[in-house]
Amino acid sequence: TPDVRPLVAGNWKMNGTRESLDQIKAMAEGVKGPLSEKVESLICPPATLLYVATALCDDSPLLIGAQDCHQNASGAHTGDISAEMVADCFGTHVIVGHSERRTDHAETDHLVRAKASAAHAAELTAIVCIGETADQRKAGQTLDILKRQLAGSIPDDARADNTVIAYEPVWAIGTGLTPTVSDVAEAHAFMRSELTRRFGGEGAKMRILYGGSVKPSNARELMGVANVDGALIGGASLKAADFLAIYGAY
Ligand code: PEP
Repeated sequence: TPDVRPLVAGNWKMNGTRESLDQIKAMAEGVKGPLSEKVESLICPPATLLYVATALCDDSPLLIGAQDCHQNASGAHTGDISAEMVADCFGTHVIVGHSERRTDHAETDHLVRAKASAAHAAELTAIVCIGETADQRKAGQTLDILKRQLAGSIPDDARADNTVIAYEPVWAIGTGLTPTVSDVAEAHAFMRSELTRRFGGEGAKMRILYGGSVKPSNARELMGVANVDGALIGGASLKAADFLAIYGAY
């Protein structure tokens, strides 16, 4: 998308202990350089590593974010973390509505929207995940699903500087399968038109990431598709060498 700085983002899911901080250190070093002015980079480790990870990235363009937040700012919600807490750890982003949370924790579009609003209230960028299941794709419902999830999961006051969309076909996550380039192009063009219709100029500039089995060998092709403004990477973001190879595809 013209005039949009792509974002290469990693989602560590429930992986990573203190030992893995070496990978973050290597990523923080690896993204230094002129490419960082063109391309933004982000790692979302588990919440246990958030604070120490941001400290490691003190003098690096590598940004650190969380994988989820509660919709409330504080309160009696045992085990949850708030967007305020992420910001307090110097996190800059939070993923909301990842398909694993939609499935494992029955998160609805309505809840995901509330979480995105909580992120915005804490001055974080919300990475709002959407995507169809294999059955929905087979039934030809992909664009309908994307339309409904976009309408339901994004707050009305979302802006291009505080909201990123991540299109992640559920069947492509962690499977090694990816949609064809023309399927990615169709989905992203559709999302762009929906976002522009609803948010005008802000929607035209809102980044739309592709996610689902992105790896060094397919990154360049996927990132080259029109309206793909970066990647959300699971498995291949755990190792600095893979993450940096994908980042370097730009
Ligand atoms: C993800 O979980 O956001 C993801 C895209 O995972 P993977 O890259 O492992 O498919």
